[in-house]
Amino acid sequence: MTTPEISFEFFPPQNLEASFRLWDTVQVLSPLDPRFVSVTYGAGGTTRDLTRDAVATLHKSSGLNVAAHLTCVNASRAETLAIADQFASAGVNDIVALRGDPPKGAGGFTQHEDGFANSVELIEALADTGKFNIRVGAYPDRHPEATGPDSDVDWLKRKIDAGASEALTQFFFEADTFFRFRDKCAKVGIDHVLTPGILPIENWKGARNFARRCGTLIPQWLDDAFETALRDGREDLLATAICTELCSELLDGGVDKLHFYTMNRPELTRDVCHALGVAPKVSLENVA
Ligand code: FAD
Repeated sequence: MTTPEISFEFFPPQNLEASFRLWDTVQVLSPLDPRFVSVTYGAGGTTRDLTRDAVATLHKSSGLNVAAHLTCVNASRAETLAIADQFASAGVNDIVALRGDPPKGAGGFTQHEDGFANSVELIEALADTGKFNIRVGAYPDRHPEATGPDSDVDWLKRKIDAGASEALTQFFFEADTFFRFRDKCAKVGIDHVLTPGILPIENWKGARNFARRCGTLIPQWLDDAFETALRDGREDLLATAICTELCSELLDGGVDKLHFYTMNRPELTRDVCHALGVAPKVSLENVA
């Protein structure tokens, strides 16, 4: 099994306590030498300023390679591109470009009257600037808006052709889900740019609700296993074992990069990374 290259997703803090939690998360995970860390953009564009500030601060203070998420929701093209420009001015040239979801309860995506209609238009516009390394989302289990069995793959191909360099997948619970998706992608010429997104399950109830909203299929065995573990007070042990097993199967199947949805809770992600052989890098300054 190869030791994977890893990356981490964080969300921007909404208050002082959350800022400390994010900083603690960065302190725990940065010794694992991630390829990059990314900062989400709240549903409906709700964390626009917080994302911008968190991205700029992390870039300046953590020494990590930071990627900023950007969505098309509730903003004109000019406003969206102005935010991208602000990321670039702060020295952040990595963007995870998404169509995005509206805020909770607001129904489906509605295009702003002067806004981008979809993720492909956003990717094209960002690529035209020549300033950004663009990553995008991908959906091994069917996205709720997919119109047919292959539409996620066909649409991903359009996003790659529009200028994306890598796709980070939505989380999924079984390695075969990823492998089937990877095979379909390879058939349309998308290869070696797919990075599995991994959700360490801190809280099964929350993860299950999240999965239902995203269209991620929930295997019955997983639901049963957590039900038993919860009863026995062993949820933590099960979560570490299940996540490590999923990652190991992916690595055995030829995957060499993993992207962790940390939810700003670093311990489980750290333990899984350690179990996969990702060792903390000790800086020489700390040894001398
Ligand atoms: P797209 O890939 O553009 O669309 C999703 C699917 O819908 C496609 O695969 C396709 O099947 C169908 N589809 C959409 N448009 C068309 C079309 N015109 N023609 C045909 N089919 C179409 N959300 C946030 O709000 N903030 C974030 O920071 C955030 N980060 C994310 C990070 C990752 C790695 C992932 C995977 C998702 C993230 N999301 C985030 C969620 C994302 O915004 C939602 O899943 C949203 O519904 C789709 O955005 P997208 O750009 O991935 O969609």
